[in-house]
Amino acid sequence: MEISGEKIAEIISTATALPFSINSIRTVGGGCINSAYLLEGRDTRYFLKLNHAEGLEMFSAEAEGLGEMEASGAIRVPHPVCHGVVDGKAYLIMEHVTFGSARGDSSRCLGRQLAAMHRCSRKQFGWHRDNTIGSTPQPNAYTENWIDFYRDRRLLFQVELAVRRGAGNALERKADQLAASLEQFFGDYRPMASLLHGDLWSGNYALDTSGAPVLFDPAVYFGDREADLAMTELFGGFSSDFYAAYREAWPLDAGYERRKGLYNLYHILNHYNLFGGGYLSQAEGVMERLLAEI
Ligand code: ADP
Repeated sequence: MEISGEKIAEIISTATALPFSINSIRTVGGGCINSAYLLEGRDTRYFLKLNHAEGLEMFSAEAEGLGEMEASGAIRVPHPVCHGVVDGKAYLIMEHVTFGSARGDSSRCLGRQLAAMHRCSRKQFGWHRDNTIGSTPQPNAYTENWIDFYRDRRLLFQVELAVRRGAGNALERKADQLAASLEQFFGDYRPMASLLHGDLWSGNYALDTSGAPVLFDPAVYFGDREADLAMTELFGGFSSDFYAAYREAWPLDAGYERRKGLYNLYHILNHYNLFGGGYLSQAEGVMERLLAEI
């Protein structure tokens, strides 16, 4: 590990007010952004993420996001323990969740619990702080109108990053056209500001040993719940039972199918900003299809 295990054990003991010493440290793979470790004590396990010191803000926002979802009481998330900088590295420590396999109703349970989380709401769209989606900044300044929020803080923000990355004028032109016609996708649909996971692809969802759903690695804000559902469809991996249970718990507006592409455009642009390559033509293709619908 890149930092002192003894110091980390001491930090955990202080944060939890319980004695903790590390018996073993195991590297955990699978993350996109950070290095991760399982810290095993005598009878407690913690999950540690490390990044360079400038990553502290990102970790502090992730910890608050987990806290916000935990406070909803709707769905299990790893309990955030503490974050800070040690030995020149930013760290985030949370409860380690042991993964298990599905029980009969795991997918339906996820659908119901996500709908319950979405029922937590605020008066305005956004969050009390900015955070990140992957490692891309995600601005969350509270906004009264959802369409304004989605246009300025989601779509056009990512387009601006993409242009700076060299995406070119065609993308910007299409984005401006889309931004000017955004209202047409909404009609008289007025979403409420729901607590969203914000980055809900199947890699950020698991089951614990009782088969209960666990969500992690969030990019929390209060927004249209359709945005979370759209993302589950972008990369797949969620079962028809999940969607059926979600819709039973809280039916979706008929216009969801039309807005889905609009909401996923944000994540495709973000993937271009993170990884480059073919995501640019994918984003342009989605924009063209959306513009053709107007
Ligand atoms: P990154 O921020 O680098 O993308 P993730 O938060 O996605 O990292 O974590 C990487 C992997 O570690 C996940 O795919 C998941 O399998 C596992 N993981 C994340 N959080 C926990 C946790 N609290 N307990 C156990 N495993 C976890």
